[in-house]
Amino acid sequence: MGWLFPARCAGCGSLGAVWCAACEAETAVLHAPVCGHCGYPLQDPQAECLGCQGRHFAFTQARAWGVYGGALRRAILKLKHKRNRQLGAVLSQHMAASLPPRWGVELVVPVPLSVRRQAQRGYNPVDLLASPLAERLDLPLAQALLRQRDTRPQMDLQVEQRWANVHGAFVGQPAVAGRRVLLVDDIVTTGATAHAAARALRAAGATSVYVLALARTL
Ligand SMILES: [Zn+2]
Ligand SMILES: [Zn+2]
Repeated sequence: MGWLFPARCAGCGSLGAVWCAACEAETAVLHAPVCGHCGYPLQDPQAECLGCQGRHFAFTQARAWGVYGGALRRAILKLKHKRNRQLGAVLSQHMAASLPPRWGVELVVPVPLSVRRQAQRGYNPVDLLASPLAERLDLPLAQALLRQRDTRPQMDLQVEQRWANVHGAFVGQPAVAGRRVLLVDDIVTTGATAHAAARALRAAGATSVYVLALARTL
């Protein structure tokens, strides 16, 4: 249908591509040194950031491609409101490039929506990233997490409330048993969601869980 509706950039609205070169250039890409746990950018290479001190995450490491803001924020909001597979595919290329090869992941698992929200929306925006990412990495994709209860949007909550909001929200499926899992989300903020999801995957037998997101809030 591209010939009927010319592509419009999800970041700035300009015509020509779903994600334009200007928006790409504007995005602050996260580079080392970053916190060894959560991927938060650091001035000096240290073991962990202040936010991670004293925390024990169920995932081994988390990384994201870019800083959540500006054009990237607008593109992520577009994915939440429109099932734009082309946009997901383009942005997932950056996620693939941000994946540390040493992780040695074997299976891609998207962070799911609740059953209710999935039914309302008709699709999970994270799948628009996770599905082309799995294809690019030549890894199987498994819908191996379920949300067993509704949670409030993490963005609406204060940092400390976010941990309680998602605690015990997920259940892992047997498909992850004995596997090194790549957990995929669109945005990582405190790591609370990733932690709760990783905990469920580990409980279902995953040997380790690594987290890859498109964006990270600072
Ligand atoms: Zn643009
Ligand atoms: Zn950290």
